[in-house]
Amino acid sequence: MSTKESYVLALDQGTTSSRAIVFNHGGTVIAARQQAFEQHFPKPGWVEHDPEDIWRSQYETAKGAIAAAQVEVSQIAAIGITNQRETTLLWEKATGKPVYRAIVWQCRRSADICKRLREQGLSELVAQKTGLVLDPYFSGTKLMWLFENEPDLRARAERGELLFGTVDSWLIWKLTGLHRSDPTNASRTLLFNIRQGRWDEELLKAFDIPASILPEVVPSSSPTGYGRTKKELFGAEIPVTGVAGDQQAALFGQACFEPGEVKVTYGTGCFALMNTGAFPVPSANRLLTTVAWDLGPGTGAGGGGGGGGAGGAGSGASSGGGYTYALEGSVFVAGAVIQWLRDQLGLIADAAESEALALSVPDSGEVVVVPAFVGLGAPYWDSEARGTIVGLTRGSSKAHVARAALESIAFQSRDLLVAMQRDFGRDIASIRADGGASANSFLMQFQADVTGRSVVLPEVQETTALGAAYLAGIAVGFWKGQEDVARNWRRRRSFEPEMDAATRDKILGRWDRAIAAARGYGR
Ligand code: ADP
Repeated sequence: MSTKESYVLALDQGTTSSRAIVFNHGGTVIAARQQAFEQHFPKPGWVEHDPEDIWRSQYETAKGAIAAAQVEVSQIAAIGITNQRETTLLWEKATGKPVYRAIVWQCRRSADICKRLREQGLSELVAQKTGLVLDPYFSGTKLMWLFENEPDLRARAERGELLFGTVDSWLIWKLTGLHRSDPTNASRTLLFNIRQGRWDEELLKAFDIPASILPEVVPSSSPTGYGRTKKELFGAEIPVTGVAGDQQAALFGQACFEPGEVKVTYGTGCFALMNTGAFPVPSANRLLTTVAWDLGPGTGAGGGGGGGGAGGAGSGASSGGGYTYALEGSVFVAGAVIQWLRDQLGLIADAAESEALALSVPDSGEVVVVPAFVGLGAPYWDSEARGTIVGLTRGSSKAHVARAALESIAFQSRDLLVAMQRDFGRDIASIRADGGASANSFLMQFQADVTGRSVVLPEVQETTALGAAYLAGIAVGFWKGQEDVARNWRRRRSFEPEMDAATRDKILGRWDRAIAAARGYGR
């Protein structure tokens, strides 16, 4: 290697934009580029992306970030990919041409298929093998929808002409020509056995999906598994060595390497993930069980050594290789409730204003907002619930409502964290936070208060991209391993619980009653 410093390039392919970030060895952002792309809503509840938009925006930001970093392509030691999960693509093997738009994770078009599968009694089998629930959110039933509604596609798939992939696979295919995925993305398809670490024949049969369309699954951190970029793309071949879905990448970027460690991303929605170590923990509280990452055989991160096969029934079975698992829960409406205050109610001019408004009153005046605009997710899973504001009196002001809206984000996250503690049987010591709304210090303090746990913000906020960079960099020896990257994690700020237990109990009681009201109204 030359004496010039090397870097890692992370590609962060999100739902509304593609980003590319060049990181140095200290995990510091050297340069970043971002490009938004078009969202297609062909029918109510349907969401699509043009696969070529995904690729073009990602490729252009990658080139842009390298140029902006003012480094030579040969100084990029590796590329890591992180991506919007569950989004489903199908393309021609011979030409690489997409045969349909990408069906985005938010798209509800396979709701009827999910219902049918539930009625066929498949929920248990699916939960046991994949850790998921039969919901349109995941890729498998989106793929079924394509085959059931575009019959030509089934015939072509059966002739071996088509390839399926989530966004990671699509980008890998475009970058290196290989058809690959990693276990974190595979674990969101409903087709992947997370205990055995392989595509599940029984599920493929139940969903009538031909195995020939599936990518080969290789570890999330892999020196050779994803190939090298085609020379014409960047002028030199760069190894692609790290891949993980966005939430898992953020867990890695937050260096939550010990079982029981938790990160919460406060964005439009809220995603909480807890590292549960080498074993998949089934949830009794309707959380998802998912693969956190696979560092490959011989890393000591997983339970087994070598290929899958430990599988089987009991909850104690771990996959082969270096699998680490996680429990996951999400809140549908988190930062979005602040957008609602701004756009629908006109209470604030921008999201950041919510903090000063909330702090202009000493408490919410017993007002509670439940932003169940699209029902409630884990641990309630109540699609009938609707948003409510309860506890209004003649003295309730817009400040009380704004404060209660921010509090609702923390209450909902707390519900997830409590469910995780129950499922895992261990106490959460502290919460590592990131995402746009984590900039709100009132919210972070309130989160600490209602959970009785410290909430910690990292120095580098780009945890998702950083996680992908770490996975890629570890594979090529740029970082020595988890201990090495854990040293890069530094706290920027922390919030300690200050609320007394009696007050906490009182406001949590109010929250529970407000949830009951939101659920009762939908009945
Ligand atoms: P996403 O990745 O889901 O698009 P971001 O992480 O960019 O989301 O965060 C954007 C969300 O955070 C928006 O819903 C916005 O309302 C909210 N948000 C941003 N800044 C603040 C703030 N200071 N206080 C509260 N909410 C905020």
